[in-house]
Amino acid sequence: MLAAALLAAAATGPAAAQQNFDKVEIKVERVAPGVAVLFGSGGNIGVSYGVDGNVLIDDQFAPLVPKVVAAVRTLDPDPIAFLINTHWHFDHTGGNEALGKAGTVIVAQDNVRRRMAVDTVSSRFGTIKATGKAGLPVITFTRDISFHLNGDRLQVVHVPNAHTDGDSLIYWTGANVVHMGDVFFHRLSFPFIDRDSGGSIDGVIAAVRRGLALVRPGGKVIPGHGPVATRAELQAYHDMLVDVRAKVAAQVRAGRSRAEVLAARPAAAYAGKVAANGFIKADDFVGGIYDDLRKGRRR
Ligand SMILES: [Zn+2]
Repeated sequence: MLAAALLAAAATGPAAAQQNFDKVEIKVERVAPGVAVLFGSGGNIGVSYGVDGNVLIDDQFAPLVPKVVAAVRTLDPDPIAFLINTHWHFDHTGGNEALGKAGTVIVAQDNVRRRMAVDTVSSRFGTIKATGKAGLPVITFTRDISFHLNGDRLQVVHVPNAHTDGDSLIYWTGANVVHMGDVFFHRLSFPFIDRDSGGSIDGVIAAVRRGLALVRPGGKVIPGHGPVATRAELQAYHDMLVDVRAKVAAQVRAGRSRAEVLAARPAAAYAGKVAANGFIKADDFVGGIYDDLRKGRRR
């Protein structure tokens, strides 16, 4: 989520209904040959473009679809053949119905379709309505799937129980670019882990490790939110996650209460550096880790 959209959502329910999209501009950044990122409002959109057809990764909000389509046309005049959703959240899938009706084939991990097909009650966002049939993925996969086009191979790799239970990383093998989805929030905020949708701190750490294993040195990393990052910045984010988790785990082992763990401020060193006190405050991040670890101990 973009910080502004998230704040609106937290205050008033799903942002899609309230936010004014008229003033949103879609900014195009070319990342590598045949690879671009579109920034607007909502999750960062990855694009694979070229002679074999255009592929979108996520699509922000429904009112932005005409602007997104126009931005893709500046890269390549062909239609958008495929859309891959990194996960089900409404700021990444809001354009699905319009694109599906226009003939784009939507692809996502099984749990993305399962969650989008029904109304969802979220502790953070309230009730999120089911997506209409045209917006649901028509091709789903359990573990991974590859696209062989535009002179490259796009590996779509499911990472279980991370930001949600349906996340995928998308890796351009030739261009050496990875789109991390919301497994990676770069600079804007501490990570948002949607535990209502099956997310967990250990899943996020494993997913970031998977991203680091995919992208070779010198590659580019597209986060779900925030500017394009280097592999070293993804590594720093990983190290932050591991460090804060270890500090919380030591406190849990010592029998500290949730309030005591928060008071020890184990994430304080990272506010304003690797992460920021944006949408997810340090206390939300640390408290969530505490809850995950306590849950693990009870099992
Ligand atoms: Zn998300």
